[in-house]
Formats: sequence, structure tokens, C-alpha cells
Amino acid sequence: MKKTISVILSVVMLVCCVLPAFAETAQTDGSFGAYKHVFIIGVDGAGRFFKDADTPNFDRIFADGAVDYTARAEIITTSAQNWGAILTGVSYLTHGLTNEITGQKERTSGTEYPSIFTYARQAFPDAELASIVHWDNINYGIIENDIGVTKDNGSDEEVTQKICDYFNAGNQPSLFFVQLDDVDHVGHSLGSKAPEFFAQIETVDAQLGRIYDAIDANGLMEDGLFIVVADHGHTIKGGHGGLTMRETNVTLALTGKTVVKGSTLDKSARNRDVAAIALYALGIERPEYMSARLPANLFEGVAGEKRPVTKDSGDFILSALSWIITLITGIIG
Ligand SMILES: [Zn+2]
Repeated sequence: MKKTISVILSVVMLVCCVLPAFAETAQTDGSFGAYKHVFIIGVDGAGRFFKDADTPNFDRIFADGAVDYTARAEIITTSAQNWGAILTGVSYLTHGLTNEITGQKERTSGTEYPSIFTYARQAFPDAELASIVHWDNINYGIIENDIGVTKDNGSDEEVTQKICDYFNAGNQPSLFFVQLDDVDHVGHSLGSKAPEFFAQIETVDAQLGRIYDAIDANGLMEDGLFIVVADHGHTIKGGHGGLTMRETNVTLALTGKTVVKGSTLDKSARNRDVAAIALYALGIERPEYMSARLPANLFEGVAGEKRPVTKDSGDFILSALSWIITLITGIIG
């Protein structure tokens, strides 16, 4: 009985903690629609571990930006669950995408919770939109295939070169998504403490540098928002899907002309929030159903938003309980 009461109290306290104590809605200010281009670079399996690797490119790119190493991943900490949430702005419980489903079912328009590419297409009918990925489930099963998004795929190295060629050819996408996968491969085989794991993050760091420089050299960072985000991390032994800190804490880093320099965002930022941030930066009204939100201390002069928990109370309860387990396993493990 005592145990039950203490669990209930913990949940109540947690609810209080995760509801940020700032204004309810973001103002529509100078950052809304201030960007012509949003670049989302996803690093699969990298978790929070940019923090512990030698990443000179990441450091220079985000020297004037906001970096959070403890953004929360989607529960369950698996790839499609997370890339699905990052690209649709709703929880896994809502979008229902899994690795199996995204590999088997081609995504087209007309689904209940479309990706942010659909909203970008509606807002900008003639705009260039692109997604170049290593793990093709994203292009096949998450981003709609009938809305004119330029798509390509290949190994991390091939993807990096294709992206550089793409920008050097003069392409100016409004929304651009990338996913690199090799960190996840090393994580699976050797775990998140292995020197090889950090060496792979450092390889990705060099690729990030090349991607950023290609974008910047072609003048697109002037009105560009550049985001690096991870879907999940890895356990010490390798693998993910669970609730340990190593799996659930992820990197979320942003730089752009109105991003608060040196910010660490707020304590309840999630990787899912990338969907809200991208739409806001491009000046696209967010659909009412989304539970992604604008973190506090991201854009200058813009208050953060409360997590709209009533829109997805199942996810909120699951996330709260999961976080308690994360805290316990973080302490013990
Ligand atoms: Zn993954």
C-alpha cells in the first residue's frame, strides 16, 4: 500500500515537473516563418553520445546554437517509432508506425497523421522538398510518396556525397530530411561504450560538417534552420527498445538566425518536437492534433508551449511511467 502511494505520488510529482512553467502558447513573432529552409539531419542510434565524442564539426556548427543532450526519445525506443514521431509530430501510440510496417506498406497521402512534408507541400505547392536517407523505410513507409518529395538513398558515405552534389547543383529545398545509419549499426554490434561507437560518431561528425558546409556555401544558412536529432541511443551491450537513459536520452541541436545562443532548451523537450519546430520555422500552422510542441528557450523572444497532454493522455501516462523506470534504471544501471 505504501509502495502504491509512493508510486502515485511520484507520478503526480513527475506530472508537475514535466509541465513547463511558462506561457501556454508561443507568440506568433519574428521567428514564425522566419526561415525559408529547414534541414533535419537524423543520426540513427546516436542517442546523447555526441556529448562524449570528439566532434569538432558538431561543435562549430552549433557554437551559436542550442544543444540539448537529454531530449526524450519516443517510447518505444525503436527507429520507426521515433522517426515516425519526429516526422509526424504525434506519439507512437498515435501514429502506430513500426519497423515492420514502414518496410511493408508504402506511405501515400490520405493517412490520418501525415508527415510534415505533406504540410510543407500544402503550404508551398511549388517548393522543392527532399529526403535522402540510409534506412529506406523512412522514404518508403513514413514520408508520403505521392507529394513530389525528391528522394534518394544509399550508404552514409553515398548519402553524404549525394547531399553535397544536390546542394552544389543549386537545389534550395524548403524542407530537407537526412538519416545516417552507421552509428546504429556499430551500436548494435558493440554497444554504446565501445571506442568503435565513438569513432563512428566522429565519422558522422565529419559527414555532418560536409553536409552543413555544402548548405552554407550555397547561401542557404542565411535563412536556414539546421537541426541534428537522434531517434534513440544504445545500451552498453548494444541494442535499444528499452527505457534506460542510454536509450531514451537523445541529442537535439539547432542553429539558425533566431535560435537562442548557448541554449539547452527546456527539460521536457522531446525529439518529436522537431515536427513542431520545423512547421513553426517555415510559418506553417501546426495541425491541432499534434502533441509536438515548441520547447522553451529555443527561439529568441518566443515562449515555449505546454505539452498538450489532453490531446494524447495515453502517451502522457505511458511517458510518465516510463520516465520513472528510466530514472530508476539510470540510478541502478
Ligand atoms: Zn534507430
